[in-house]
Amino acid sequence: MRKKLLLGNWKMNKTVGEAKAFALACRSIVEFAGEHGVLVGVAPTYLGLQTVKENADKHLIVAAQNVHFEDKGAYTGEVSVPMLKDIGVSWVIVGHSERRTYDNETNEKCNKKIVKLVHEEMTPVYCVGETLEQFEKGLTKKVVEKQLRVGLQSLCEKCIDKVVIAYEPVWSIGTGKNASKEIAQDVCAFIRGIVREMYGEGAERMLILYGGSVKPENIKAYLTSPDIDGALVGGASLQIDSYRAMVENLIG
Ligand code: PEP
Repeated sequence: MRKKLLLGNWKMNKTVGEAKAFALACRSIVEFAGEHGVLVGVAPTYLGLQTVKENADKHLIVAAQNVHFEDKGAYTGEVSVPMLKDIGVSWVIVGHSERRTYDNETNEKCNKKIVKLVHEEMTPVYCVGETLEQFEKGLTKKVVEKQLRVGLQSLCEKCIDKVVIAYEPVWSIGTGKNASKEIAQDVCAFIRGIVREMYGEGAERMLILYGGSVKPENIKAYLTSPDIDGALVGGASLQIDSYRAMVENLIG
């Protein structure tokens, strides 16, 4: 039985002080989620990671929003896997569409990061999804399949369930235009099928999230779909009240 997961992506929001306030305020939410077997987490900026680790309930998943695939070196502005491990961070978002759009994050680069993270026994949350133009041309599955086949290459069968996939249609991120639960379920089932073809039955244990304008009012519909195991949430994860409401609504 796969667990449910709510992961908040804070993007470039919250000062260290604001991140600390959220970490303290969400202690009871993490406890409540844990009592119901639900995983919850947030992805602060690099600056907020340590503060959230130090102030939150120890069961809160704390994820970085990016990482470099090399351990160290002349990569100005980057942060490496050993640096994250050193502060106890073991989850990383890879290939978010904003990084694909603004930072030239290619499927190949994502693959190097995912291979590195899995090798280090960390958890990549690999984001895939089509643009509005690709959606309108009916190319969703073609685009997502390529992102999966390249991004997930060179992993091993027994480690595939250490990877989390987030299906995030680019046209639904931050726009309020969420994909219907039927579309989201259809694509998430397709994703599981491709991963099953690539790596076998480990695909059944792998968590697949939907992301794109998820909020307290619609989270339950997605999370009751058979192939959607959770949500990657941007805007609605920033305020403690809506974060709490999403946890309560997905459980209740
Ligand atoms: C995201 O940033 O991954 C995301 C899904 O954002 P939003 O929930 O704001 O659409």
